[in-house]
Amino acid sequence: MRLKDKVILITGSGSGIGKCSAQLFAKEGATVVVNDLDAVKGEETVMEIRESGGSASFIQADVTDPASVQAMVERILAEYGVIDVLFNNAGISGVGALHEVEPDTWDRVMNVNIRGVYLPCKYVLPAMMERKSGSIINMSSCIAEIGLARRASYAATKGAILALTKSMQVDYAPYSIRVNALLPGTILTPFVENYLKTSYDDPAAAIESLKKRQLSGELGRPEDVAQAALFLASDESKFMMGSPLYIDGGAVFG
Ligand code: NAD
Repeated sequence: MRLKDKVILITGSGSGIGKCSAQLFAKEGATVVVNDLDAVKGEETVMEIRESGGSASFIQADVTDPASVQAMVERILAEYGVIDVLFNNAGISGVGALHEVEPDTWDRVMNVNIRGVYLPCKYVLPAMMERKSGSIINMSSCIAEIGLARRASYAATKGAILALTKSMQVDYAPYSIRVNALLPGTILTPFVENYLKTSYDDPAAAIESLKKRQLSGELGRPEDVAQAALFLASDESKFMMGSPLYIDGGAVFG
């Protein structure tokens, strides 16, 4: 059991990569707090984990809202006493070249993808600093490092997350807190399926062209990213600090 007795909060874990990570972490002995905006999907994730013998609970909270994030963190600390790992996974897509993006859409993408990392960190960090221990995993993307068409707002947020990760690592290393980033390539999840449906006339052809962009010739699966997240959550990665971890089938070389 690689995460035995660890208490782990995963934001946006009612779907896709977050859900898969919650299931894997629970199998590895963690107590997982599933957070999502969507209560139906979050509760479903918890039910599935419990049915497989794992330990999980659900807290509905919007990661962009300070009061609900603070209340969520306080509730976890009151119930379990610690948060060993914070996995900032919640995120939304943003489509369009810069001039096509409306200001409200721009703000929404910035809010969920950047403020939605800042707030959970802000409220979880004091408890980690007091214990001088913790691992924070921030969800960036390989788009932080490569130019992709019509993803301006989304790319800006994922680049910011990478910079934030490195800066946080310097501030919190004295407290033995590790802060690392995941940089996935294209992973087939509801997030990507929706993006393909709304952005392309022929989503199947779009999938084929996305596959070609990755050296692997295949799209990733949520499990591929969950395994990398498991490594960053576990003590096996104790010498990784402020690192970008690519799980992109070689997309950055494509
Ligand atoms: P997904 O849409 O399947 O899951 C995201 C979850 O976040 C959803 O359940 C959603 O309800 C939740 N969420 C959205 N806004 C929220 C909010 N304000 N508060 C709380 N929860 C909220 O997406 P996914 O593909 O699993 O993506 C997860 C993360 O991985 C995102 O940050 C995404 O940017 C990143 N990512 C995904 C890919 C990919 O190809 N799928 C690639 C690189 C990075």
